[in-house]
Amino acid sequence: MPETINTDLVVLGGGPGGYAAAFLAAERGVQTTLLDANAKPGGTCMHVGCIPSKTLLHVADLIHLGHEAAEFGIAYGKPEIDLAKLRAKGDKIVDMMSTSLLKGCKDRKVNHIVGRGDFKDPHTIEVAPLTPGPSPGGRGVTITFKRCIIAVGSIPAKLPTFDIGSPRILDSTSALRLESVPKTLLVVGGGYIGLELGSVYAALGSSVTVVEMTASLLPGVDADLVRPLFARLRAQFDKIHLETKVTEVEEVKDGIKARLEPSSPLPPGEESGVRGEFAVFEKVLVAVGRRPNTATCGLDKAGVEVERGFIKTDKQRRTNVPHIFAIGDAAGEPMLAHKAAHEGKLVVEVLTDEAHAEWDPRAMPAVVFTDPEIAWCGLTETDAKKQNRPVKVGVFRWGFSGRATTVGRNDGLTKVLVDPATDQVLGVGVVGAGAGELIAEAVVAIEMGATAKDLAMCIHPHPTLSETIGEAAEFLHGLSSHIFVPRK
Ligand code: NAD
Repeated sequence: MPETINTDLVVLGGGPGGYAAAFLAAERGVQTTLLDANAKPGGTCMHVGCIPSKTLLHVADLIHLGHEAAEFGIAYGKPEIDLAKLRAKGDKIVDMMSTSLLKGCKDRKVNHIVGRGDFKDPHTIEVAPLTPGPSPGGRGVTITFKRCIIAVGSIPAKLPTFDIGSPRILDSTSALRLESVPKTLLVVGGGYIGLELGSVYAALGSSVTVVEMTASLLPGVDADLVRPLFARLRAQFDKIHLETKVTEVEEVKDGIKARLEPSSPLPPGEESGVRGEFAVFEKVLVAVGRRPNTATCGLDKAGVEVERGFIKTDKQRRTNVPHIFAIGDAAGEPMLAHKAAHEGKLVVEVLTDEAHAEWDPRAMPAVVFTDPEIAWCGLTETDAKKQNRPVKVGVFRWGFSGRATTVGRNDGLTKVLVDPATDQVLGVGVVGAGAGELIAEAVVAIEMGATAKDLAMCIHPHPTLSETIGEAAEFLHGLSSHIFVPRK
């Protein structure tokens, strides 16, 4: 007899959005079931995303620091890389963190079910046991629920060109397994994943070529933030081809033969560096975006509407079916773990104490964990231009930062965008070592409605990189000690 679980709330998907929602709901006294296809919660972020990639990026940093030490008179020599040990370390980190999430379920009395959920109707999910392998609690289970939060995440986007069934063609998941360090790696897509994982493989010794379809790496990110990263990647990578795409691939004896072509007709006299040439790479990483994972859980049977793959929601993350909510990558861009977690908590607020709560963040942070890191929040200069919105921008180049210079990393830049009429901070962008940590101050400032004068009047500790935010704000008020602006 299949077991039936009746629950107040079922959360479908145990990533950062799903488990944040399930934990808070249970703490608020809601009888909660968390259903996920992994034996331990954490989702893409934990198992095949943020956490394993950041472990590898830390290793890349260690390797770079070893090289850079020479500048300070310390020589380490060529790093010896033990891939098996590195993989084991990464697995241990993921296991430790996901086990603590499993414990988090037990502590809060969240009923954690393992298996694939498939809607049968708007109040029922059937759980398919996972095969092969154990499916604790998932075998033949039917869940009936009063309310549901869908948090099924996203999966790597595929391009038909690369669909040749070759194990040499990797996506972000298989690239993270780090089965080998190929001599040559072609990275298709110069976005978050392509550049982060490309940097890891380059640090480990691969000769990396990046092919990006648009005219810039990280399209959409402010050009002055991308510039220092581009300069450093040009030294780390073998080649970076912009406005280029791969039109044909074929498996050959030693790798993948790929044809690189300009992605759009070039103006007369302009060259892109590639003209339909072929090159062979030991492996190819395809990182051309992710798409919502909404096709395989029976949303139509629940009556939930989807638009261009994303589940349609209102400002409370409620779908067209009033007792079903959707959060995270499946509910729209940006596909970021912290956005999903925040949405999960919002939905629980709506379901418990705050029936009128709405999604209304002023500053969504984003971080690209390359070297240097790029981070921004709130309004970007690119968006201000698109919206024809006037802004004043205070820029502080890290050449003047004591901290950046002492650690040999003065290639960064911090900028603060304000409303010219009110001085209110609208956005902040940072490129430089540790930018991802620095951006948190900006998020607080924007959420609290701070002005640039407020930021400038806050004492930033010396010598730290946080001073760069203070100085960019001081510049807007003629207060910066390290930027001389001649009086007219
Ligand atoms: P992305 O959208 O960041 O980058 C994809 C890139 O591929 C773009 O630059 C695009 O122009 C390019 N591209 C598309 N088709 C192409 C083609 N045919 N040939 C060459 N280039 C092509 O996507 P991603 O890097 O795959 O990452 C997916 C999502 O995952 C991101 O949008 C992000 O939200 C999330 N993510 C976040 C982090 C982080 O927070 N640090 C890290 C990894 C992933």
